[in-house]
Amino acid sequence: MANLGIPGNTIAVLQKYQFAFQKKYGQNFLIDTRVLDKIIQSAQIGPADTVLEIGPGIGTLTQYLCEHAGKVIAVEIDQALIPILNETLADYKNVKIIHADILKIDIQKLAETENEGKPFKVVANLPYYITTPIIMGLFEKHVPVSAVTVMVQKEVADRMQTGPGSKEYGALSLAVQYYAKPEIIGNVPPNCFIPRPKVGSAVIRLTKHEKPPVSAEDERLLFRIIRAAFNQRRKTMQNALSNAADLPFSKEQIQSVLTELGLSVTIRGEALTLEQFADFTNLLAKRV
Ligand code: SAM
Repeated sequence: MANLGIPGNTIAVLQKYQFAFQKKYGQNFLIDTRVLDKIIQSAQIGPADTVLEIGPGIGTLTQYLCEHAGKVIAVEIDQALIPILNETLADYKNVKIIHADILKIDIQKLAETENEGKPFKVVANLPYYITTPIIMGLFEKHVPVSAVTVMVQKEVADRMQTGPGSKEYGALSLAVQYYAKPEIIGNVPPNCFIPRPKVGSAVIRLTKHEKPPVSAEDERLLFRIIRAAFNQRRKTMQNALSNAADLPFSKEQIQSVLTELGLSVTIRGEALTLEQFADFTNLLAKRV
């Protein structure tokens, strides 16, 4: 099958099947061979790797993955794309197409049946409407995944990579950086896709940490505190956390822990590093 990274070949496939784009599935197919090469290069895929691709579309990135990886598992939600994928990937013997919703599939089980329980490398041009649940699901459920190289909305890539002091810094930055090292590989303009998305895109690589860079005695409490701090990001930590319905801490308890850590009692969550959030959580749990 011809290289689908070349726009004319993608258009021919779309016309042959009279494919109707489904907006609800975030379908924007890549049509730029340089971007595809860059994704493969930055994902560092080799014959020893099994790749999990989320949302193969008509199989454009999948073709590139099959050329480089030992094996590719491609999970696509749209039934209309399955016969197309069967044709566009017919030349490859190292691909398995699964018709399923990535948010519902058991990735742990998939790794056991398809990869002897060893970790996948995830590579995808993600559907933007569910970027955060997909990425957080991969990390929080502790499924066997060693690295995630994905195309996302540019603003989301910036939020994942940034630190305290920037306006993009928030719960997503802290959650991603707790589990992985984020590196933005490059920006990708709307004209590299069909149809063109309304937003700019970026490729980001998230390399999973062997163990988190900070020690949180209660991971769930750490993330409840982070979420509460950014739910009301213009409020001070003491106000945001004492207002949070799912946290049992009083203003006085929060103040005393901030003081003990040498932080101002009027500090906002947006000024705290991941390490400071972890120290704060550990001490608060101990005191209360
Ligand atoms: N990989 C293709 C490419 O780069 O040209 C298509 C990328 S397109 C941005 C996102 C793909 O994810 C679409 O094919 C869409 O149908 C699929 N998708 C959307 N939601 C999904 C879900 N919950 N589970 C699996 N695939 C999904």
